[in-house]
Amino acid sequence: MAAKIIDGKKIASLTRADIASRVAQLKEESGVAPGLAVIIVGNDPASQVYVRNKKKACEEAGMYSVVIEMPEDTTQEALMEQIETLKENDRIHGILVQLPLPAHLDEEAVIAAIPPEKDVDAFHPINTGKIMIGNYDFLPCTPAGVMKLLEHEGVEISGKECVVVGRSNIVGKPQAMLLLHANGTVTICHSRTKNLAEITRRADILVVAIGKANYITGDMIRPGAVVIDVGMNRPAGGKLCGDVDFASCSTVAGAITPVPGGVGPMTITMLLENTLTAAKKAVEKNCKNP
Ligand code: NDP
Repeated sequence: MAAKIIDGKKIASLTRADIASRVAQLKEESGVAPGLAVIIVGNDPASQVYVRNKKKACEEAGMYSVVIEMPEDTTQEALMEQIETLKENDRIHGILVQLPLPAHLDEEAVIAAIPPEKDVDAFHPINTGKIMIGNYDFLPCTPAGVMKLLEHEGVEISGKECVVVGRSNIVGKPQAMLLLHANGTVTICHSRTKNLAEITRRADILVVAIGKANYITGDMIRPGAVVIDVGMNRPAGGKLCGDVDFASCSTVAGAITPVPGGVGPMTITMLLENTLTAAKKAVEKNCKNP
């Protein structure tokens, strides 16, 4: 039987409408519009598209947004100074530095310079630690988007076998943590995992984030499994595709996300959610310490 297609575009659009109405409410109650600043260093075309999309999504949700473009040869010092300026700017509640940065810049130091309360990507070590503990303000956007998709589809996580393939700091590791907090029984796989197919076949919920086009095939999944494909690959001359081979998996899975139109649209949606959260927290803080 063909799997149910999880329509990330539709779920993202519903969620963004809800965020827009909460933004309008915040503005009405406090006069504050959530503000996001995105810093982009260099001319990477993919990064430029992502940044444009983030700005557009912010504006559609009624948020204030600025994009700060810095040249490829920006020094570490100049980037740090820019972050420092945004730190002090009361109109800006979220600061995001588009990654990857040019190789001469120290990414770790840049992430650590963003104040945790404005770290809407949730990459700062303090926010990462809070995710581990399960007491967080912000979640990294992609894993949070996956959780939202599962919630929207009414997928029960508690007690289920969850397998996450990929262990990056921005997707795999936090994804595993969120599934664990939702009481899933979680296994994390990576490039050194032996007998990957044996493990993926155990999954009731399989999340794949490896960056390898069409790597997971229908024989590697359990009949009826919920399959979430985070991958975004553009093979030379080919069309955008995921890490999951949609053709073979969609006849075995119970539900599956397509690429494009699955996890992708949820990532920016969760960035909007985080920016709104940051603005609300700033308003609450100002009410306490006017
Ligand atoms: P990284 O390259 O940082 O991490 C890839 C992970 O996959 C690593 O942990 C690696 O293992 C593991 N891996 C690689 N090959 C295999 C394999 N053959 N078997 C098992 N594990 C393997 O990638 P990201 O996490 O940043 O991104 C993953 C994918 O998700 C990419 O396609 C990216 O474009 C996409 N993405 C999509 C987003 C969206 O909004 N939809 C947002 C972010 C990412 P090891 O640690 O051992 O090297």
